[in-house]
This record gives sequence, structure tokens and C-alpha cells, in this order.
Amino acid sequence: MSLQEITARITQTETAAGRPAGSVKLIAVSKVQPNDRVQAVLQDGHRCFGENRVQEALGKWPGFLEQFPEVDLHLIGPLQTNKARQAMELFSSIHSVDRPKLAKTLARLAQETGTCPDLFLQVNTGEEEQKAGVLPAEADDFIAECRGLDLPVQGLMCIPPVDEEPALHFALLAKIAGRNGLAGLSMGMSSDFEQAIALGATHVRVGSAIFGDRIKPQE
Ligand SMILES: *Cc1c(COP(=O)(O)O)cnc(C)c1O
Repeated sequence: MSLQEITARITQTETAAGRPAGSVKLIAVSKVQPNDRVQAVLQDGHRCFGENRVQEALGKWPGFLEQFPEVDLHLIGPLQTNKARQAMELFSSIHSVDRPKLAKTLARLAQETGTCPDLFLQVNTGEEEQKAGVLPAEADDFIAECRGLDLPVQGLMCIPPVDEEPALHFALLAKIAGRNGLAGLSMGMSSDFEQAIALGATHVRVGSAIFGDRIKPQE
């Protein structure tokens, strides 16, 4: 699929769901992709990208940003507290705020620097041991805690279990966001972004459907 096809499918799905065209942000997930594929998508005019590792993003994006300074970068993978400062400098949004310790570190740095990226709190909707995020039952408290730290919480993020119906997880995330008055929903990837949009996604994170298969799979 091409960038144009994905964009067209997003618009169709927005319309079918009775949502305004352009209300869903497409984050092109460029992790592990060769630079020439990223360059091609930049050349096509796309300006919103996602990376899941700070180190990899730091190696790749400063060069591209010189050419395309208006690019908007989103961190969608786990963040160690010792990389938080660098992440806050590079990314305009962080989708993977998944624990109180990280929230406290981000709050301290936000106080110190006077700025903070838009934040999404990650919820482990499938309650999977190996996956990051707070449990659904802990989400309300975590949202309140982050708000108490004056963090700019825009919404919630989830990565459904690979072997389950994603719609159930999207609906659960939407429900938690709704009862907490959060507008942002970061959900939906290459295989399920249309379902996610139908259930209210405001940000979809699409990698392989735009760039092709990743050379070295990574989660
Ligand atoms: C890799 C990744 C994606 C994109 O996955 P695709 O299946 O290639 O679209 C989305 N979200 C997160 C958190 C990821 O790590």
C-alpha cells in the first residue's frame, strides 16, 4: 500500500464513522526502516513520524530535520527515565507514558525546562505480562496522578494482544478515556487502523503498510 492509499482509506473511514475528514492523525512509523524509504515518504509530503527507540531516532532524525524542520516526531515505544530529557527535546508527543516513575521524571524536567511534549498514557488493555502500560483497573488513578503533576495529558494509548480481536481493546481504551474526559486516543496499526478509527482513534500508528515490511522485526 502507498501513503496515498492509506490516507484515502483513513478519509473514507472518518466519513463512514461520521467524523470530520482530517480528524485522525496518521503517524508513519519509521522504526527500523532504511533511510531511503523514509526519505521517499518525506518527499511525498508526509510530516508526521513515529519511532519506538530514542537511540535509533537520535541517529536518524537530526539529519532529516535539517531538510524538513517542520516534521513532527512521536515516541511510541518504551522510555527509560535516563533518556527522558533527550526524548523531550526530540519528540513533540510521547505515547508511552506507562508508569508513575516516568511521569514524575517528565514532570520534573517539564518544570525545569518550561516545556513538555503532548503525552499519552499507555494502558495494557490485554493485561499482558510482557507489555508496558498500567492495567485498566489502575488507569483512572494514573490519569489523576499525571494531571496532579501538571503534565499535559492528551489521551491514552494501547497495543492490543496480537491474538485477540483488537476492537474490544479499542472500545475499552475509548471507554476509559471518555470517563476521564480525555480526547486523544492513540490506537490502530497497519492491520487494524480502520477499526480503530471507527471506535474513535485520533492518532493511528501505521508502519509496515506504508514502508513495507521491516527488515528486522522489532517491537
Ligand atoms: C511498530 C509499531 C507500530 C506500527 O506497526 P505496523 O504493524 O508496522 O503498522 C505501531 N505502534 C507501535 C507501538 C509500534 O511499536
